[in-house]
Amino acid sequence: MYPEIDKSKCVNCGLCKAKCPVLSSLKSDNLKDKIPNAFTVKAKDLDLRLNSSSGGVFALLANYILKKGGVVCGAAMTMDCKSVKHIIIDNHEDLYKLRGSKYVQSNIDTVYKDLLPIIKSGKQVLFSGTPCQIDGLRHYLGKDYDNLLLVEVICHGVPSPELLKKYINWQEYKSGAQIVKIDFRHKKCGWTVFGNRLENSKRKVLYSTLREDPYLLMFLRNYCLRPSCYNCHAKSFKPRADFTLGDFWGVKEVLPEFYDDKGVSLVLIHKEKARNIFEKLKNEMEYKETDCLTALKYNICMLESVKKPQNVICFLKI
Ligand SMILES: Cc1cc2nc3c(=O)[nH]c(=O)nc-3n(C[C@H](O)[C@H](O)[C@H](O)COP(=O)(O)OP(=O)(O)OC[C@H]3O[C@@H](n4cnc5c(N)ncnc54)[C@H](O)[C@@H]3O)c2cc1C
Repeated sequence: MYPEIDKSKCVNCGLCKAKCPVLSSLKSDNLKDKIPNAFTVKAKDLDLRLNSSSGGVFALLANYILKKGGVVCGAAMTMDCKSVKHIIIDNHEDLYKLRGSKYVQSNIDTVYKDLLPIIKSGKQVLFSGTPCQIDGLRHYLGKDYDNLLLVEVICHGVPSPELLKKYINWQEYKSGAQIVKIDFRHKKCGWTVFGNRLENSKRKVLYSTLREDPYLLMFLRNYCLRPSCYNCHAKSFKPRADFTLGDFWGVKEVLPEFYDDKGVSLVLIHKEKARNIFEKLKNEMEYKETDCLTALKYNICMLESVKKPQNVICFLKI
């Protein structure tokens, strides 16, 4: 999924370059770095937390917007489990599709365009995604909207969609059945273990931890990321989004009384809109204000791109 100009249709208006978050960010984006307020958070609802990758904060925010009659946009697996795509939902029953981290680049497709009339209608809209996707939407819209809540995840980088397809094909070949469900961060053995759970059409469950699963290994060792992720333009304290959500990997050291192996979130609050919503959701969470810079020592992906391994090109050629 790389942008390409169709020369036969191009009228040289320059809009694509003006809207590109990488090419235009320095010129048109006057956001200044600002250290946000940080909170350590766990959703009180244990079931909700176990079905989320971290502390379940995304689901709390999504429920809040849906209850107001709004829509939520985020990343969902396709039915064949071979790709991920951004979709828009307007009811609680569909929320499960957006929950959980999918470790592959999500296809944005026409979602920015589809959201515009909904945002303009005045409905509450929550858009969630990687920081570069948030940047993309902001540049596409060209202005802020009070009824649009932007929720970004701290991002390690996104693996190649082609690799996910190959991985699922390989799993289907090995088990002789179609993969019907995938959970990249199943908490069966705990939050910190990184377990990949697959289910096939014969109802067989295939579970492997980071140590055994080649896909997770390639992801976390940085072999299969989109080339731009090694030099990501979206690593900063710029208040692009209203909220940033991540795993609070340092919780055991910084706030041991909060640690359990069921998932703890690090929540960064960048704007007043987010502060007001967080205030309203406090009775649904356990939370503690936390020093942002101390917390981010354990989440360096918020501010730095991951290192590119030397032999990554050989790997991608295979
Ligand atoms: C590719 C990727 C890399 C990440 N890397 C880190 C990291 O290095 N450090 C860290 O602290 N946290 C990282 N996270 C974030 C973390 O895994 C959780 O997603 C986040 O803490 C929210 O957890 P939750 O329990 O609140 O909600 P969950 O229900 O677990 O999260 C769901 C949210 O993630 C979004 N999402 C899921 N998959 C994708 C995708 N492929 N593309 C765009 N958005 C997606 C959904 O739209 C939804 O907003 C990463 C997430 C992804 C998707």
